[in-house]
Amino acid sequence: MAQIKELRCCVCGRTYTPGTVQYVCPACGEIGTLDVLYDYEQLQYVFDRETFTSTRPGMWRYKVLLPIAPSAKVPPLPVGGTPLYDSPRLAKALGVRRAWVKDDGRNPTASLKDRASSLVVAKAMETGVQIVSAASTGNAAAALAGIGASVGLRIIIFVPATAPEAKIAQLAVYGAEVLLVEASYDTAFDLCFTLSQQEGWLCRNTGINPFTTEGKKTVSFEIAETLHWEVPDVLVTSVGDGNIIAGVYKGFWDLLQLGWIERIPRLVGVQASGCAPLVEAWKTGANAVDMEPIQTHTIADSIVAALPRDRAKALRAVRQTDGAFVAVSDEEILESIPQLARLTGVFAEPAAAASFAGAHRAVKSGVIHPEESVALLITGNGLKDIRSAQSAVSGGQRVPPDLEAIRKILHP
Ligand SMILES: *Cc1c(COP(=O)(O)O)cnc(C)c1O
Ligand SMILES: [Zn+2]
Repeated sequence: MAQIKELRCCVCGRTYTPGTVQYVCPACGEIGTLDVLYDYEQLQYVFDRETFTSTRPGMWRYKVLLPIAPSAKVPPLPVGGTPLYDSPRLAKALGVRRAWVKDDGRNPTASLKDRASSLVVAKAMETGVQIVSAASTGNAAAALAGIGASVGLRIIIFVPATAPEAKIAQLAVYGAEVLLVEASYDTAFDLCFTLSQQEGWLCRNTGINPFTTEGKKTVSFEIAETLHWEVPDVLVTSVGDGNIIAGVYKGFWDLLQLGWIERIPRLVGVQASGCAPLVEAWKTGANAVDMEPIQTHTIADSIVAALPRDRAKALRAVRQTDGAFVAVSDEEILESIPQLARLTGVFAEPAAAASFAGAHRAVKSGVIHPEESVALLITGNGLKDIRSAQSAVSGGQRVPPDLEAIRKILHP
C-alpha cells in the first residue's frame, strides 16, 4: 500500500513522521519543501511493473505509488493517460535520434496541473476537508476549480486583481470563489496560506503542499510505462515555480528506487529569458536558499515566477540528472507555437511550446546531443491563450464566393 514512510526536507534532510507536518519543513520554512517517501523495499515486494497493465487508464492506475489509501475515493474526471506521440518529423527538425511529445494539454481543464489538483482533491475527500484554497493566476487554480467542482467541494482562489480576464472567467465558470487581491501574486500567495491555516482549509499552493509533486510525478510513470520502461535520454519541460520538473524527477526517482528503470532521463528545464532565475542560478552554481526575487517580463504567463517556489527541488532535479536550464526569448516561444503544431499536430500554450523552443536551443548549443532521444512535455493546451497564438500566425485569406477566383488563388 502506498503508506508514506516519511516526509523529508529537500534542503536540510530532516525527516518527519507522516501526520506531524502538513506543509513545509518547520526548521527551514518555505524553502524547505518536503519529499514524500515510501517503503520502497516493501512496495517492491508487493508489486511489480506488470501490476498496472490490468488497471484503469489515467493517473489513478498508479494508486499504489501515491500517498492515498487503496480504498480512498478519487475525483471522477479522468486525469492523465495522455498520449505520448513518437514523432520522426519532430526528431528530424530538432536534429536528434528520436523525439516524443507528451500531450498533457489533453487533461480535463487542459493542463498538467490537473494531476496535482486531482491528488489534492482526493486527499481533501479522504480527510473530510470541505474547503480547498489556492493562490494562482492560471492553470493550477483552474485545475483545482474544475476538479473541485466535479466532487462539489468549496474552492477559494486568491488571484492578483491584475490577472488575465480569460483566466478569471475559467475559474468563475467552475463556480470557484475568486478573490481578486489588490496586490502581487506573492502577497496573494501569503494571504491564502495564512488564512488557510487559520480557517482549516486545505491549501494547494505550489511549493508548500508536498502532494502537488506527487500528483505530477504520474506523468513520468506514464512515459516510462508507455516506453516499456526504457526511458528517453532527455526530457525537456518548461519551468516557472519548478514544481513540474520536480514532479517529473520524483516520478523517475521512485521508479529507480523500485528498480523498474535503470536511470533517470537528463532533465532540461526551459525558462523565458525575461524570467529565468533558475537558468541564472544553474549557471552560477548558486544555492536555492541564496536566490532573491527578480523582475519578470514574458508573454508565457504560466512560467512567470519572480522567486520560484520550488527552486530547491528544481535545481536538484537538474543537477542530479546532469541536465541543464536554458532560456528562450518571447519571439522564440511565439514562433514555436505554430512550429510544434505543424510538426506534431499538438497545439500548445506559450509556456508549453517553450519546451520545443528550449529543446531547439539545447541541441544547437550542444546541451542535447544528436544521438540522444528526447521527450517534450507539453504542459498546457493552446486554446488557453488564443491571443498569443494569433500573434504568431496570419489567419486566412479573404476570397470571393467564386470557384474560378479561388482556383486562381490556390494555383497561381
Ligand atoms: C504551471 C505551468 C508550467 C510551469 O510549471 P512550474 O511547476 O510552475 O514550473 C509550465 N507550463 C504550463 C502550461 C503550466 O501551467
Ligand atoms: Zn528543512
